[in-house]
Amino acid sequence: MTEAGTRIPTRVPEWARKVAEGLGGGPHVVVSGISVSGNIHAGNLREVLVAEAVAEALRERGERVRFIFHADTIDPLRKIAPGIPESYEEFIGHSLSRVPDPEGCHVSYAEHFLAPFEEALREMDMDIEVLRSHELYERGVYTEVTREALDRTEDLRLILQDVTNRKMPGHWSPFSPRSSSGKLTGMRVLEHVPGRTSVVFAGEDGFEEAADYSKGEGKLGWRVELAARWKALGVTFEPFGKDHTTSGGSTETADRMAREVFGYPVPGRYEYEWIGLKGRGDMSSSRGIVLLPKDLLRIMPPDAVRRIILGRDPARRFDLDLGEGFPRFMDEFRAEGGWEHPVPFIHLVTVAQTVGENVDAAAGMLSRGGYERAARNPEELARWLAYARNWAREWAPEGMKIGLLSPEESRELAAGLDDDQRDYLAAVAGEIGPDLDGDGVQDLLYSTAVGRGLKPKRAFAAVYKVLLGKTSGPKAGPFIAGLPPEEVRRRFRL
Ligand SMILES: [Zn+2]
Repeated sequence: MTEAGTRIPTRVPEWARKVAEGLGGGPHVVVSGISVSGNIHAGNLREVLVAEAVAEALRERGERVRFIFHADTIDPLRKIAPGIPESYEEFIGHSLSRVPDPEGCHVSYAEHFLAPFEEALREMDMDIEVLRSHELYERGVYTEVTREALDRTEDLRLILQDVTNRKMPGHWSPFSPRSSSGKLTGMRVLEHVPGRTSVVFAGEDGFEEAADYSKGEGKLGWRVELAARWKALGVTFEPFGKDHTTSGGSTETADRMAREVFGYPVPGRYEYEWIGLKGRGDMSSSRGIVLLPKDLLRIMPPDAVRRIILGRDPARRFDLDLGEGFPRFMDEFRAEGGWEHPVPFIHLVTVAQTVGENVDAAAGMLSRGGYERAARNPEELARWLAYARNWAREWAPEGMKIGLLSPEESRELAAGLDDDQRDYLAAVAGEIGPDLDGDGVQDLLYSTAVGRGLKPKRAFAAVYKVLLGKTSGPKAGPFIAGLPPEEVRRRFRL
């Protein structure tokens, strides 16, 4: 909490303020760019959230900021991702924006993977413009930088050679024209037509063809495009993952190209580390560990997604724990956000699993358990119950999954109890009533056991057995206080 007791803005972490301090005066253009060649997973979200945090920090200090998500829709399909039919071999080398949707639900392959991600960004209420690279080329946004690149082909080739330490062929071109077959790769540029926005190139069959780069009939190679788009869009900040920032990598190349060829200052940078999923390794769409942003939004609100994905320091590697450690994360998130008396997440999970989708029943259970405040706002409660229920179903360890047994099931399981335990339950049933709150029930369960000379451990085991079919469970007092008393009595009188 701050001095004034207001909520700490979760969207501007301290590290982002520091990064923003290092950037000059505005206006600023903050960019995050991601490939749409496969699922855009929750790990990719880290890049966008790093950019968002810095954009917010700049806005906070009064700068004008344009925040862009650059979707690489014009990029060629390079390989068949998991789950894509083998028949897509024929589209290798074609722009993702011109390859059909493998499932037929969107206008293109690119949109199939971009649309769900864009939807998640909207759901997170992000102030971001989504730009599709094929449209930028078609609208002529990259015409000037493409012309410059073609005119400076030799300089770009030497930089590429120098940085990568690989010999580039003499006919290398910064521009990949699209042939009449639709392919973008493997063409050989012969000439930049003087005074025109077109190139002549040798197509796949060796015949000469022409492509107009002001109309999106081709694209710049990846490293050149990176530097060129900084200039074309006026980029002042872009985060990068460690795969790009290694020595000889794409940022080293683009930095030199920007400075030496395009005459554009290298934008501010932040290097973030990958995130993994606890017990399953790094997230990567090519390795089949696919956790989508919408999977996270099913179990927590947008600001919690920001908090869990960024972690305390996005420059450090971090494993998402969506299992056992998740309830603690949710409690910490709400404590840091200044929530007053939030219901412990694990208790919400218990309630959600007990009442199903019935919000009134949940409100009753929470009030009886001592959480009147949480019961007062049905809309908010419904949202949190959905998070809790989805988490219980999709991520909770077995031990945290519970379901109230039917009276018949209780009776069957009670066969395994001894007489002392059965008499104990009957005694509790006689005392239980609507006037007892969570602590009251907890005391009753305990004192009844002690009074009858029954070890509390065996007493509580009996309670959990007939209610949940388990030997342990959520804290018994608040859980039982939340249930309608007659339902408890039906299961305790055996
Ligand atoms: Zn689709």
